[in-house]
Amino acid sequence: MRYSDDIIEEVRFGNDIVEVINSYTPLKQRGSSYIGLCPFHKESTPSFSVSPDKQLYHCFGCGASGTVFNFIMDIENYDFLDTLKYLADRINYQLPSPNQKTDDKLLEKKKILYDIHKLVAKKFYENLLTPQGDIAREYLDNRKIKQNVRTKFGLGFSLFKKDDIYTFLKEKGYDDNIILESGLVIKSKNNTFFDRFFGRLMFPIIDTQGRVIAFGGRDLTNNKSSAKYLNSPDTPIFNKSYNLYSINIAKNTKNKELILVEGYIDVISLYQIGITNVVAALGTAFNENHIKLLKKYANKVILLFDSDDAGIKATLRAIPILIQNGIYVKVVQIENAKDPDEYIKTFGANNFIKFLNNAKSYISFQIEQKMKEYNLNDAIQKVDFTKEVSNIISSLESPVERDVFIDEASAITGISKDAILQEINLILSNNEKMPKIENKRINKKNNIQNNKLEEAKQSIMYILATNLNIYNKLKKYINPEDFIDQVYVKFVSLIYEYYENNLPIYPAEITLKFDDIEEQKKISKVFMQKIDFSNNDNLEKIINDQVKIIKKAYFDKVILEEKNIEIVQKALKDKKLFENLYINL
Ligand SMILES: [Zn+2]
Repeated sequence: MRYSDDIIEEVRFGNDIVEVINSYTPLKQRGSSYIGLCPFHKESTPSFSVSPDKQLYHCFGCGASGTVFNFIMDIENYDFLDTLKYLADRINYQLPSPNQKTDDKLLEKKKILYDIHKLVAKKFYENLLTPQGDIAREYLDNRKIKQNVRTKFGLGFSLFKKDDIYTFLKEKGYDDNIILESGLVIKSKNNTFFDRFFGRLMFPIIDTQGRVIAFGGRDLTNNKSSAKYLNSPDTPIFNKSYNLYSINIAKNTKNKELILVEGYIDVISLYQIGITNVVAALGTAFNENHIKLLKKYANKVILLFDSDDAGIKATLRAIPILIQNGIYVKVVQIENAKDPDEYIKTFGANNFIKFLNNAKSYISFQIEQKMKEYNLNDAIQKVDFTKEVSNIISSLESPVERDVFIDEASAITGISKDAILQEINLILSNNEKMPKIENKRINKKNNIQNNKLEEAKQSIMYILATNLNIYNKLKKYINPEDFIDQVYVKFVSLIYEYYENNLPIYPAEITLKFDDIEEQKKISKVFMQKIDFSNNDNLEKIINDQVKIIKKAYFDKVILEEKNIEIVQKALKDKKLFENLYINL
């Protein structure tokens, strides 16, 4: 549910950003803003700036940026709604009760969908015991999955009958609409209804409150035309990106540690040997959205993916997502087996547990993977490898940890610790000066041009948003679409709309017009730039240059992508015009 913009604005208005932030990190006034040590990254000289006029903060060290809402969300790890409640409480502001009517309707629908899933889970479970279920029981027998574990996970079977579940639910009195919304039944083009799952081993997906919210189904026919695994689609009670398989069991983890595996069967075979803090993503790669759920129960994660290339890729992909969210990561790489289940079957539970206890740090894992890409007997490749490794190690915040891995990298490469340390210090000092740029081999020239364009856009947006006179001079030359990036286009459109309606522009209010947190940060950064208006002659020239850069990029894009030849011709003509234009401010 979402509160209206007016309410958000009132809560924001009551919570002065300087006061709020000052209670987390002491701020000192400097000129028109306040500065302090950034609470989001380690630093000894303050680069964290808070503007009382704009009601925004920005860190010139790590790039953290936003409104008072973003600050509380990041520092307290709250979602937006919790933040709103917290800030409303802080000023004794009574939030109105949510829109009861639509809420009730949705709740009612969800309740029916939970009921349907419960009934169907029970039916699948019973199917497993029928003669048709032989094939599924055989599969489980081969996998050595014990009866009590089958019951614990509620494993079941969908019959080889295309409308079994549909007929079953109709008999229970459910109408077609709600049956379709459950995702368990599909309607074909000629209006016949058939089940999503048939002839599959069924894994109920259960939420933290113990409710069945979806199913995963494994094909047992080895029929090449059907997918090996099939999952429920997203429904009002299930979103695959926000749920994890077996979280209902794993949430009881004692030491705030979760093991992330690839498949349902891995979860179950680990459970069977007494390891219960295991989860798997559901037919989607592990992603940012999973973090919110995971963080409620764990601050440590062990990645235990398959030993193939896909597993390694998935591991490398998950590491930064977890690290950035403050989760401690270890990696276990399966050896001599393709997945955990096979390992346990081949080498036994005890060996597996030993193996698990030797999980290595994600840094070692990353270094080992990098090693595969380089020939360390080649001097040039060795230097490149060292740079890559230094880059990985420089991501560690603790100097002690860095030291440990410098030793390791030096032992592997034979390059002196001093040389690696120097490389790391160079990276760290550059990181402090610049916003983080991904460390990839990029075409340098292109990159400089892109930086110039981005800089021009940001500066012109800032000028438009903060200076009505210049806006009036520029508005006939520059349009929101010129900024290409959808967030910027929306931002500039908003600014134009505010001016044309004679509304005052409050930077924090404009920032909160964006729903997405990343978008809010992007806009906050635009407002928090340091631009010097003191030298007017120079400013006029700078603005002219920047407008030209933006217009040129826009016209180039039109010329490249537009199919309508007349529009292309006009763009070519306008591009020429702009090259020779000078706007007097
Ligand atoms: Zn910072």
